[in-house]
Amino acid sequence: MSFRARLNLFFLLLVVVPLIAVGVVLLRTIDGAARGKVESALASEARAVSSVAREQQEAADSVSGQLARDRALAAALERGDTAAVRARAAELLAPTTDARRIRLTLKQGGDVVDVGSRTAILPAQHTLISPKDKRPLADLETSVVGPKAFVRRVTRLTGREVQIRNASDGRVIAGVVRTTGVIPGPGEVGATGKGGFTAVTIRQRGFGPGAQDVVLLAAGTQAKASKGERLALVGTLILFLALAAAGALAVSRSLQRQVGELLAGAQRLGRGEFDQEIAATGDDELAQLAEAFNAMSRQLRRRLDELQAERARLRAAIRRIGETFAANLDREGLLEIVAQAAADGVRADVGRARMAVGDREEIALTGELGDLEAVIDAAESRVRGGGDGLVSDGELHALAVVMGTEGGLHGVVAVARREVPFTAADAEMVSYLSGQAAVSLENVGRHEEAEREAHTDALTGLSNRRRFDELLAAAVDRAHRDGRPVSLLVLDLDRFKEINDQHGHQTGDAVLREVAWTLRSGVRGIDAPARLGGEEFGVILPATDAAGAITLAERLRIGVEQIRVTSSTGTELRVTTSVGIGTVAGASAETGELVALADGALYRAKREGRNRTVTADASAEQG
Ligand code: GH3
Ligand code: MG
Ligand code: MG
Repeated sequence: MSFRARLNLFFLLLVVVPLIAVGVVLLRTIDGAARGKVESALASEARAVSSVAREQQEAADSVSGQLARDRALAAALERGDTAAVRARAAELLAPTTDARRIRLTLKQGGDVVDVGSRTAILPAQHTLISPKDKRPLADLETSVVGPKAFVRRVTRLTGREVQIRNASDGRVIAGVVRTTGVIPGPGEVGATGKGGFTAVTIRQRGFGPGAQDVVLLAAGTQAKASKGERLALVGTLILFLALAAAGALAVSRSLQRQVGELLAGAQRLGRGEFDQEIAATGDDELAQLAEAFNAMSRQLRRRLDELQAERARLRAAIRRIGETFAANLDREGLLEIVAQAAADGVRADVGRARMAVGDREEIALTGELGDLEAVIDAAESRVRGGGDGLVSDGELHALAVVMGTEGGLHGVVAVARREVPFTAADAEMVSYLSGQAAVSLENVGRHEEAEREAHTDALTGLSNRRRFDELLAAAVDRAHRDGRPVSLLVLDLDRFKEINDQHGHQTGDAVLREVAWTLRSGVRGIDAPARLGGEEFGVILPATDAAGAITLAERLRIGVEQIRVTSSTGTELRVTTSVGIGTVAGASAETGELVALADGALYRAKREGRNRTVTADASAEQG
């Protein structure tokens, strides 16, 4: 059942039905009041009827007096001559006297003489006495009125319908003959009959043992409230009904409007539209319900915003993971990513990752440090000292975790934010990230190591042949660009085979290491020494002409000459080297040409007696 239908039913049950009941009760009450009026009128009219009846009986009484004085009647009675009594009584009926009926019950013999109209009513009673010896002769009953005349008189007097009926059998003697159902008893007033009559009955003694009832009847219509009264009542009720209906309609309308707004608002919520609030007027339960809906809507909106922010963070995180793939094991990039991911992961304002690389430290920072610097510093030093890494200063909070591995990586990841302190879950998140980052960073270290090894000669620590080729190509390229010359020294140790043969391979290795050290410490920062293989070395000299190369070559040659290595047998060894120099001019430089020049010069240095420096153009030979 709809809300509207229920409201209507409610109105019907609470207003219409009781109002109709009240109307019925009121109608009955005013009918009762009207009937009461009729009854009391009837009662007083009954008294009037009784007095009229008494009048008639008094009149009959005076006629009885006349009859008592009649000598002929008295004589006949004294004689006990019934026939004579009847004859004389008949003579005495009207018009001789007013008597309409005379009834004599003789004392002597008990004969009854009854003459005149049998229907006459309201008799007077008398005892006839002998004028001579005063003994009672007969009981006399006499009447001066008939029922019809009495009815006429009473009708004139009261204006009512009148009925006279025999008390013994209820037979109607005179007046209206309409059946009126049960008549109330003598002296009583009451409703009667189907037509709603009100009646009153006055019992009168009749002749002999008989009696008659005079019944006054008030017609049904008179027993009810007047049309005017009824109209006033019904009108008032209709007015009340109209007012109640108007009130109920207003209440129902406003309820329906409020419920309708609530419903529309709830449906909007259901469709996911959280922007529009439900209008809540007043402070009733419906307004509170609307406010509750609005609160729910705001809550959902907030949750939705949070979810969207969360999604944005997730997207950023995924992008960062992609960047990690692309970062290709770059230490700096990894540190930046772990700082950013840690800050995003726990919604920190600042994230910082730092680690030691050799004797320096690399730091990546995301966000503005500002007033958070002190607290983040404190957290970092606390975690380094073995503490829990949680530091709060008023509304400023920081969390730091160690980023380290057993392989010897040392670093710290720290985050800081305002207002919301960090939780154990936050610490777990940052720890996880820093753990993953540590593994990656260690891989970066391994990668760098491997790369270094790939370019390094294991025995001497100098660049190997492969690296030498790269460096040489780069140096020639640079010479092309800046137009300056580039020189190359090629060194080959003299009669090295003998050292190996006489003192063993290990001693030979020791000599090679010493030579390498001499080369490394003897060249300038931009020069690149390398071991080309066996006991042959190369030094690339960028931006160096032949003269500069000769100077450097001589310095190195003399440096090698001064090397002293003690063999396993305790002998002190010396070694010398021959040096070949190649130099090419910037624009036309070529690696092949440069190497060929240097090799050629070296070959000449060997041939010319060893332990000397020879340049490619043979113009600067030393010995
Ligand atoms: P020279 O160059 O003056 O003509 O004479 P040499 O004895 O140096 O001649 P050669 O170039 O033929 O010999 C090179 C020797 O260097 C051969 C080998 O025994 C030795 N040698 C090469 N590589 C190594 C190394 O890695 N360690 C040691 N101990 N010896 C090496
Ligand atoms: Mg050699
Ligand atoms: Mg040699």
